[in-house]
Amino acid sequence: MRHKFLSIPRETLPERTVIERIHDYKEYASRMEDGPIVKQAERCMDCGTPFCHVGDMIGQETIGCPIHNLIPEWNKLVSEQDFRRAYERLMETNNFPEFTGRVCPAPCEGSCTLGISEDPVAIKSIERTIIDRAFEQGWVEPRHVRMRTGYHVAIIGSGPAGLAAADQLNQAGHVVTVFEKADEIGGLLFYGIPNMKLDKDVVRRRVQLLEAEGIRFKTGVNVGTDVTVESLRDKYDAVILATGAQKQRTLGIEGDDAAGVEAAMDYLTASTRELGGTAVEARFEAAGKEVIVIGGGDTGADCVATAIRQGAKSVTQFGKHPEKGLFRAPDRPWPLQPDTLSTDYAYAEAIEHLDIDPRTYLIRSNRIVKQGDRVVGIETERMEKVVKPDGQATFFVVEGSKETYAADLVLVAIGFERPEPELRKLGVESKRDYVTNLDGVFVAGDARRGQSLIVWAIREGREVAEKVDAYLNACQTELKTSS
Ligand SMILES: Cc1cc2nc3c(=O)[nH]c(=O)nc-3n(C[C@H](O)[C@H](O)[C@H](O)COP(=O)(O)OP(=O)(O)OC[C@H]3O[C@@H](n4cnc5c(N)ncnc54)[C@H](O)[C@@H]3O)c2cc1C
Ligand code: SF4
Repeated sequence: MRHKFLSIPRETLPERTVIERIHDYKEYASRMEDGPIVKQAERCMDCGTPFCHVGDMIGQETIGCPIHNLIPEWNKLVSEQDFRRAYERLMETNNFPEFTGRVCPAPCEGSCTLGISEDPVAIKSIERTIIDRAFEQGWVEPRHVRMRTGYHVAIIGSGPAGLAAADQLNQAGHVVTVFEKADEIGGLLFYGIPNMKLDKDVVRRRVQLLEAEGIRFKTGVNVGTDVTVESLRDKYDAVILATGAQKQRTLGIEGDDAAGVEAAMDYLTASTRELGGTAVEARFEAAGKEVIVIGGGDTGADCVATAIRQGAKSVTQFGKHPEKGLFRAPDRPWPLQPDTLSTDYAYAEAIEHLDIDPRTYLIRSNRIVKQGDRVVGIETERMEKVVKPDGQATFFVVEGSKETYAADLVLVAIGFERPEPELRKLGVESKRDYVTNLDGVFVAGDARRGQSLIVWAIREGREVAEKVDAYLNACQTELKTSS
């Protein structure tokens, strides 16, 4: 019999047409039907040595799934049309597959063994389909906790790291309270990642489940201002800081204080708030404007897609790196991520709707051009990237390449600062293995590793929960021994 991976081509989630989806903020992709998803899972069968679930780092690179999802096992169950058991297997390692199945960049697929010679298995599409189907079937129900330990844990920050830690510790029987300074639970899942990638009802649905299982949520509490870490430490048996790394880098060039130069996160948050019914300041509106997004990453892509929906006149995205190739470069062997050029949802929308790929490569912004206090343009120069024999890359300015782009809204998406200074403001210093300088105070997620991925935040949440559980068990043993 011919192996299925030779006869079945890779297929991913169905997407709504560009012309339909740019007029709303509903999710652009949906789950697959049973027939096609079973076929995609069949492509995984006959794999000799799976690498997809390794979940480790080579240098700065993620290899395989960081939460060690049991991918070959749930793929086998899907190929046998046993969706219920596939769902149960998936939940063994992933607290929130409905988030990762929508927005994970799928390092598992970059390390898929089939990817050496063919298109990799559509792992993320299968994951999303398993969990969406499970919700539709009513299989996802609150798991009520039978026995409570009597220990109380405070978690500061309700992003994926805080939520995963809360879920694990609650299921272990501890009484968990999550403190969040925003008015909604979810961290960047709620305010950050746009609705068309992750619908906010999907986030609320999970929060309601966690609440029904016994986790307490307190919004509008800014720890460090409204209450100190020390006072929480006095009241609770353990405290976890999962406060993220949301301080954005600023341009640091002449004129960057001009009206119309906005941080990407403020812009994306305003857009989500507006969809929730909050009136938004005109400065966050892209309608009729010439928009320039500085920063070639995923946050920048989310700004492109949002500006298109708001009716921008034009959208251009500046990136400092060269255009990626269509095929895996020789210096990026499997199982590293292939890091090839992909036409993300936002770029597909710009190409079809605005008739232009918004990405501009190897470009440096020199100064913001102002009229009065408002931005009217950006003066730029082209760069050249030279890789030295030792592998170090250097960028040179191309002589005579000065150019000015017209702009009336500039969105800055050039990354995030390291989290340590923010932690220090709370009197906390991160040490190895999730512990801090304060006894009983732990740290996890972006607040520990810097701005990263949801799947890494979930892993950190699970691992810090193990540490806290062991810490509380040790406290209990100490109490018993001393009494
Ligand atoms: C625009 C954008 C798009 C992204 N898209 C993707 C994507 O598509 N896929 C992906 O995998 N990753 C994506 N990421 C990265 C991902 O969202 C983060 O790595 C992840 O959310 C980190 O989780 P966390 O729980 O550590 O922190 P966060 O999600 O940042 O949550 C931290 C929470 O702590 C709260 N908090 C902070 N300080 C306090 C305080 N003092 N008191 C109370 N509460 C506090 C914050 O309000 C926030 O809710 C994106 C990031 C951004 C910015
Ligand atoms: S969580 Fe991400 S890396 Fe893990 S299986 Fe899902 S898509 Fe792949």
